[in-house]
Amino acid sequence: MSMDFISLEDIRRARKRIEGKVVETPTVPSPSLSRLAGVPVYLKLEHRQTTGSFKLRGASNAIASLSADEKSRGVTAASTGNHGRGLAHAAKLEGMRAVICMSKLVPENKLSEIRNLGAEVRIIGNSQDDAQEEVDRLVAEDGLIMLPPFDHPAIVAGQGTVGLEIMEAVPDAATVLVPLSGGGLAAGIAAAVKALNPDVRVIGISMARGAAMKASLDAGRPVLVEELPTLADSLGGGVGLDNQLTFAMCRDLLDEVILLSEDEIAAGIRHAYEQEREIIEGGGAVGIAALLAGRIRTDGPVVALLSGRNIDMGLHRSIICGDWAASGEQAA
Ligand SMILES: *Cc1c(COP(=O)(O)O)cnc(C)c1O
Repeated sequence: MSMDFISLEDIRRARKRIEGKVVETPTVPSPSLSRLAGVPVYLKLEHRQTTGSFKLRGASNAIASLSADEKSRGVTAASTGNHGRGLAHAAKLEGMRAVICMSKLVPENKLSEIRNLGAEVRIIGNSQDDAQEEVDRLVAEDGLIMLPPFDHPAIVAGQGTVGLEIMEAVPDAATVLVPLSGGGLAAGIAAAVKALNPDVRVIGISMARGAAMKASLDAGRPVLVEELPTLADSLGGGVGLDNQLTFAMCRDLLDEVILLSEDEIAAGIRHAYEQEREIIEGGGAVGIAALLAGRIRTDGPVVALLSGRNIDMGLHRSIICGDWAASGEQAA
C-alpha cells in the first residue's frame, strides 16, 4: 500500500520544479518556547512564504506538472482561502485562468486577496463540500482542471518540500509539529522527514471544533464532520469521503494528532506576536499553542511549523488586546 505514497524522490523532484517560484523560508530558534519546553524549540517561518502560506508550494508544483493543453484550459479548486490564493498566484505567473470556489465561512480578507491576483471567485454554500460541487460542475461542463487543496500527489509532494528544509535546518530534530486539516501538508512533511530519519516524531495539530482528519483516523475511514467557525479557519473542511491519498498517509505516518480549544489557539497567536514578533493566523499558530498548553512530550529538539499569516487584522487586534477572550469559545 505504501507504494502509492509520495516518496522522498517525488518531493526532491518537486523541490527542483518549484525552485525560484517559492521562498526557502527561515528556521529560527525560539528562546522563550525553548525555556518553557526544556528542549530546543525552533520555528519554521513558513508564514513568510509568498502569498502568506505554504500552499504556494503544492500549487506551484501541481501547475508546473500540467501539460500545455491542460494549462490552456485553466484550473479550479475549492479552498478555505490559502490554497485558492496560492493557486491564483501560481496560475497568474503562467498566464492561466483560475476559478476559486469557497464557502461563506471564508473571511473577507482572503477573498479580496484572491480577487486581487486576477482569479475568479465563486462563493457557494456553507461548507467546503458545497464549494466542491461547483468545482465538479466547472470540470464537467467547462473543462477546467481541478487542483484540490490537499488530496493530490503533486500537491502533497510540493508541501513535502517544507520537510526537506526543516531537516536541513535542524538535522537533530526529534519532533515536528504540523498544523493538520486535509493532511496534504502533514503527509508530505512526514514522508520527507521520516525518509530522512524514521525516528523523528511527526505530530498533527488541529482545532477541536470540526477536526475532520482526527475524526476520520478514529473511525478508520474518512467521515464527515460538521464545519464550525474557528480561529483556525484554514484548518476547516472535510478530508473528502473519497480520499485517495492523504488519509492513508496520515494514518500510517503521523505519530499523534492533538486537538486544541479556541482559547489555546488564541494564546498561540498572542505568544507569536508578543514573544516571537510574528503575525500568525489561527491555523498557523497551533504548534506554538500545543507547546504552550503543555501537550508536547519530547526529549529532543522540536520544530513547530508556522504555516500561515493570513488572519483578518481586526480579529488579530482583538486577540492581542484581550477583547476576543471575553467571547470564549465563540470564535471569530
Ligand atoms: C491549508 C492549511 C493548513 C493545513 O493543510 P492541509 O494540507 O489541509 O492539512 C495549515 N495551515 C494553514 C495556514 C493552511 O492554509
